Amino acid sequence: MDIVKVSNVVKKYSKVTVLNNINLEVKEGEIIGLIGPSGSGKTTLVKSIMGMEKIDSGMVEVLGEKIPNLKVLNNIGYMAQSDALYEELTGKENLEFFAKLFRLSKSEIRERIEYTAKLVNLEENLSKRVGNYSGGMKRRLSLAACLIQDPKLLILDEPTVGIDPKLRFSIWKELKALKQQGKTIIVTTHVIDEAEKCDKLALIRDGQIIATGSVAELKEKFKVNTVEEIFM
Ligand code: ADP
Repeated sequence: MDIVKVSNVVKKYSKVTVLNNINLEVKEGEIIGLIGPSGSGKTTLVKSIMGMEKIDSGMVEVLGEKIPNLKVLNNIGYMAQSDALYEELTGKENLEFFAKLFRLSKSEIRERIEYTAKLVNLEENLSKRVGNYSGGMKRRLSLAACLIQDPKLLILDEPTVGIDPKLRFSIWKELKALKQQGKTIIVTTHVIDEAEKCDKLALIRDGQIIATGSVAELKEKFKVNTVEEIFM
């Protein structure tokens, strides 16, 4: 089943075309990487998928529903490029806040906080104020926050920016574990080595998808040894 289906999407900012006839299908349980240089349109594409940006033409369907759709939003966990956390609150209070937005019951809140904090390895730090967290801890708390309501689809915009290689590895381990549970994950990155970890890639340049496929398929197609070379 297609969890996401993007058909002929065009998005302009004033007269500039930022997404130029995008077509994309994401299947259940897939990790898809949107790879492309800075400014190529990755963030605009993920925002259009959620309905946060109004598209000029084309159509987006998520979980079988036409976007924008508020109900579907409950089933999307979105992690933006910059952390949207309350620095004055503790990690736990932040997670409680987001859980309440989704109207989870008291026992669900407790369970989901326990589960997500464990997943991102922040159990020991939940009672600390987020203002005192390191950049990596904030990134991990953001990941926990976007998982709080147990969404079917995760959209992660540059989840490992500013994160050291060790932590990056552990975040990818978490993403793989989530995939095993059947989550579908869309991740944007310009880190080529992360591309290798995705089931499928969509290469984006100047608002267009120039190719899609697995890493092996793309290397074969473009007759290159690394994904990086495709962009050169
Ligand atoms: P990426 O995520 O790949 O770095 P973006 O989707 O953020 O790319 O941006 C794609 C293009 O759209 C860039 O040229 C950017 O300057 C432009 N852009 C993004 N948001 C806006 C906006 N709100 N208004 C005008 N132009 C924008």
